[in-house]
Amino acid sequence: MNLRIFNTLTKNVEEFIPNDSKEVKMYTCGPTVYHFAHIGNLRAYIFEDILEKTLKYLGYNVKRCMNITDVGHLTSDSDSGEDKMLKGAKREHKSVMDIANFYTERFHEDLTTLNIKWPEIVVKATDNIPFYIKMIEKLLKEGYAYQSGGNIYFDTSKLDDYYKLTNHKIDEMVVGVREGVEEDRAKKNQADFVLWFTKSKFDDQELKWTSPWGLGYPGWHIECSGISIKYLGEYLDIHCGGVDNIFPHHTNEIAQSEAYLGHKWCNYWIHGEHLNDSTGKMSKSKGEFLTIDLLKEKGYNPLSYRFMCLNASYRKVLVFSYDALDNAENAYIKLKNKIDSIENNGDFQEEIFNRYNEKFKEYIGDDLNIANAITLIYDIIKSNISGVTKIKLIESFDTVLSLDLLKKETKSIMDEDILKQIEKRNQAKKEKNYKEADNIRDELLKKGIQLIDGRDGTTYKFVNKM
Ligand code: AMP
Ligand code: ZN
Repeated sequence: MNLRIFNTLTKNVEEFIPNDSKEVKMYTCGPTVYHFAHIGNLRAYIFEDILEKTLKYLGYNVKRCMNITDVGHLTSDSDSGEDKMLKGAKREHKSVMDIANFYTERFHEDLTTLNIKWPEIVVKATDNIPFYIKMIEKLLKEGYAYQSGGNIYFDTSKLDDYYKLTNHKIDEMVVGVREGVEEDRAKKNQADFVLWFTKSKFDDQELKWTSPWGLGYPGWHIECSGISIKYLGEYLDIHCGGVDNIFPHHTNEIAQSEAYLGHKWCNYWIHGEHLNDSTGKMSKSKGEFLTIDLLKEKGYNPLSYRFMCLNASYRKVLVFSYDALDNAENAYIKLKNKIDSIENNGDFQEEIFNRYNEKFKEYIGDDLNIANAITLIYDIIKSNISGVTKIKLIESFDTVLSLDLLKKETKSIMDEDILKQIEKRNQAKKEKNYKEADNIRDELLKKGIQLIDGRDGTTYKFVNKM
């Protein structure tokens, strides 16, 4: 079964053909570990997780690498402002290293909580400095880079197709213009970007390394090119990130990698759309800082958030609201309850298993149509095939979805209790004994169980105990 996927490079849904049929090389941009990840960031990692697991389900071996950005990512993606890591260190009165270690750990925990697999190769930007220096030396030697005002810049005018990943005209895309950022006069061309910083403006930078151009530190973009080439080789199949990475980050990665290698580098550029909040762009500093821990504190099951993301196309903007999350949580709980009530009996029906499995592969292979793949589970539950076959199918699909569909909740004993209370409350309502009905609801809420009345009856969710 094949994968058809939208390639930002060609702006088409294409058949995925890896360079080497035995192993897919996949690179995904990792976090800048200066703060907690917000759930928008985590949407990007959920999408990448699904892509990796889809590839595996379709029979590919996948070698995946991700970086941890712990230096060089400035507050503006176009090389201006402060280093985000330094900003984090100042905010918390800690060293950059402490900040990096702390938030890398938290990030790892978030991924675990959301059943996102940790990539097999995870590399810190600061562990690969000599490799970036080697790349920059070659770029300088071959005339793709220049030294000016202390920094080393990539000369974008040396490429005819610098903007090939984006749809936009040059003027719109130059971040310096777009964001009204002060122009860097050391640059030859507006779009040129920094490969290595030594400028005195960044003197308070905590982490610096010696280089042929003086004490300094690498730019953000060269980190991903360097790590990808070092750990996955010169020919990459897939490179992912959120849509904000298309320009300038991935555009610059292509420029410097292909100039360095002297050939095309990566065939498929796959980007996940953003999660926005009601105000638009999600932020770590303004408004409510939406983290997975916050959702947990509010009583949500983190996998309800995963479920919510999986029901939307990775190519469409998703707007976060607590109503939307409530709906996702209810649907998720209902689905789990339905699965829970399947009796694991009857004979295994291999032919039927294969038929549904092929359908599942068809959906996930259709530009990651996970919503359809989930609908298939409802069809299976409703069908009259044997319980054993149903369970085996769901078990198999969950290796991609990772929604713990067969995991019994530890709260299951309690569940029976809650269901009894709901029945009692329904009875009270029937008898127009609203006081008793409200009492039952309030008592449950005190225990951290919130009842939700819907069209199909009453469900519940776990919230903070009152
Ligand atoms: P950062 O830690 O800022 O480097 O971002 C980590 C990842 O999250 C990158 O792949 C970004 O493209 C992605 N990202 C940032 N904001 C959002 C958002 N609101 N929704 C989805 N992905 C995002
Ligand atoms: Zn990157």
